Amino acid sequence: MQNSCPLCASHLIHDTRPREIIYREHKATISQIADYCDSCGEAFLSHADSKSTEKEIADFKRRVDHLLTVFPSSSDLIRGSIPLNTELD
Ligand SMILES: [Zn+2]
Repeated sequence: MQNSCPLCASHLIHDTRPREIIYREHKATISQIADYCDSCGEAFLSHADSKSTEKEIADFKRRVDHLLTVFPSSSDLIRGSIPLNTELD
């Protein structure tokens, strides 16, 4: 199926590429099937494309949620490690 990019009308390439997902300040890279536009860098996901990574993303979110349940203040600790009373000239 020939597709054109809705944004710049370039040819779309159906491909599997790494995609970074961020959830509650945690990052993961998944392999995302989509129609990619090399001209403007956009990715267009069909229903089947998003379905293909749905479970992987759900698993990642579950791991992050679990981590934050076990260590609920881990984000605060990271933020708290920045000295707030640093004296500036
Ligand atoms: Zn484009």
